[in-house]
Amino acid sequence: MPTSRSRLPGELLGIKVRAALASFATAAKYGLEFPSGTNIETAAWKDAQVGKDACPQCGKLVETVELLDDQCPWCGWQSAKARRAAQPAVMVMAPIAAAAA
Ligand SMILES: [Zn+2]
Repeated sequence: MPTSRSRLPGELLGIKVRAALASFATAAKYGLEFPSGTNIETAAWKDAQVGKDACPQCGKLVETVELLDDQCPWCGWQSAKARRAAQPAVMVMAPIAAAAA
């Protein structure tokens, strides 16, 4: 068995797995230590669960954000908001400024 050559990839994989586990442990540690980070995760998770709407064209359930800001991934329907966003940035800035005022 050519052990010296076949052993190297396994060792590299082991290092990568250990690095991934270490970074995951670090992320979990900081997630527990900083409540604000946990809140963001909870909000994102809530959005992922409830933020869906039926497409007015094909009726399939699509994430509200995607349906309004982009388009329906099933039939390509675009909301008026998405069509406005596709226009030059000057046109997009107006409603944002109005909402901030
Ligand atoms: Zn659709």
